[in-house]
Amino acid sequence: MLSLVNRGILKRISPIKIMFLNRWLAAILPNRCLMCHQHIEAEHHGICTVCLHACRYQTEICLGCGSKILLQMPFCGRCMLSPRLKVIAPCSYHQGMGHWVGQIKYQAQFAVIDVLVDALVQRILYLEFLGFIELPQVLVAVPLHRKRLQQRGFNQAWLIAHALSKRLDIPLVDNLLLRTIDTQPQAGLSGKLRRKNLNNAFELSAEFNWQRVALIDDVVTTGTTVDEIARLLQRKHTQVQVWCLARAEAPGLS
Ligand SMILES: [Zn+2]
Ligand SMILES: [Zn+2]
Repeated sequence: MLSLVNRGILKRISPIKIMFLNRWLAAILPNRCLMCHQHIEAEHHGICTVCLHACRYQTEICLGCGSKILLQMPFCGRCMLSPRLKVIAPCSYHQGMGHWVGQIKYQAQFAVIDVLVDALVQRILYLEFLGFIELPQVLVAVPLHRKRLQQRGFNQAWLIAHALSKRLDIPLVDNLLLRTIDTQPQAGLSGKLRRKNLNNAFELSAEFNWQRVALIDDVVTTGTTVDEIARLLQRKHTQVQVWCLARAEAPGLS
């Protein structure tokens, strides 16, 4: 699939058609787990249930900083004292799955999206059942700058948000948020430089009156990007939570 993307063939095809193409390829090719290479008997593709289970959170996790907690509570003591955004993910970025979530963006490895979105949906519904979160009224994908979208041909956050929207029957709102500055990649920058890099990089492009929004991204590492966008939405008195496929523990708190 990567070679097709590199040759620019897929850039002329919409991401939805690429997903259908992936599903068709998955249906005709041997169904093997990307992680352990074992044959997958079940309907799903990409990652087998054993590997998925091994990578999922096995304990209670603070929704603020991602650190393990002993009690079934939304936040650890530290995050209760200084509130953070609720970040919901089925697994840690550092427990094997981070690499595969990265492959969606870097290698157009869309085969893992459905299985990880399923795991995320289960986690969202579990947290809603516990009363730790309220389901949002709309989903908003973290946007790419127009130039980067043209280069890559797809926005991985939008693909994940689209799959979540279908699974949970919550509308995905496009064109609400614009990335107005083509920032340099965040990886490798210090916390202070990340914040400076993203300063004023986003703009709300339309008026809206939703009280609860879930911001969708592929991964959350330092949280600088989602914090920057959440600030914009919170100025409109909107409650923001973040949904992603894998998250890192906040630095210094794991
Ligand atoms: Zn496996
Ligand atoms: Zn915490």
